[in-house]
Amino acid sequence: MTLIGQTATLDDQTAQAVSILRRAQYLIILTGAGVSQESGIPTFRDAQTGLWARYDPMELATPQAFCRKPELVWEWYTYRRRLVAEAKPNPGHRALVELERHVPRVVVLTQNVDGLHQKAGSSDVVELHGSIWRDKCYSACQGEPTLVNTAALAGSPPGCPHCGAPVRPDIVWFGEPLPPDALGRANQASIECDVMLVVGTSGAVYPAAELPVITARAGHPVIEVNQSTSGITPVADLFLLGPGGSVLPRLLEALDLPPTSGQSLSSPWPRPGIGRATKET
Ligand SMILES: [Zn+2]
Repeated sequence: MTLIGQTATLDDQTAQAVSILRRAQYLIILTGAGVSQESGIPTFRDAQTGLWARYDPMELATPQAFCRKPELVWEWYTYRRRLVAEAKPNPGHRALVELERHVPRVVVLTQNVDGLHQKAGSSDVVELHGSIWRDKCYSACQGEPTLVNTAALAGSPPGCPHCGAPVRPDIVWFGEPLPPDALGRANQASIECDVMLVVGTSGAVYPAAELPVITARAGHPVIEVNQSTSGITPVADLFLLGPGGSVLPRLLEALDLPPTSGQSLSSPWPRPGIGRATKET
């Protein structure tokens, strides 16, 4: 493929990604902790500083921990909410919003609980692991989830106004299943989309890590943007190395340029397997 004009400066993987995104009608974006980290939100483990340094997050973000010490877990989330409240969307978040100008249908599937995609302006976000900004009744007394507005409630944690059970964050804890509606939508979208863009996820947390595999099996390209190879890389057709905050704006800039002869809109889809970053044999 000969590239002319400004896109000649793009590396081959980026040029191929641009070519795929130009033809896309339905784009799924799967995001993970790396995207939030670029907004200054520490990862689970990095957040354990000061008073919290002696606690293992694996022993705080579980239903068992909440049953044992609801006050402690509630306080930890109060601390985490404070950290998240200070964070702003980064250039990566904003570039993902801008992709909506280029692709008719865009859905963000995120493992992040901070709400930054919505804050940036993404119009359709599926929260696979819940949201740190919502609370629900621990006993799910009115069905799962029984959301509770805790703004005016006293207590640490407050009691559910319906049944009195403690209120907890509406977040998927270790050992808990994903919300069935969100997971169902994510699975369906992963089959139906015509390209998936994966950004800043290690591919180590299931079932979210399975979603790119579903897209690849359905014969659609998977484009990965990451600071290092991940559990997703073996199924990725294209791998763009670097933080989302710099790779995605560059991708967007290339998309805004007029198509080159090598990126004709009538080109057929690349065959599955072409340009795979790594291949399992
Ligand atoms: Zn209740």
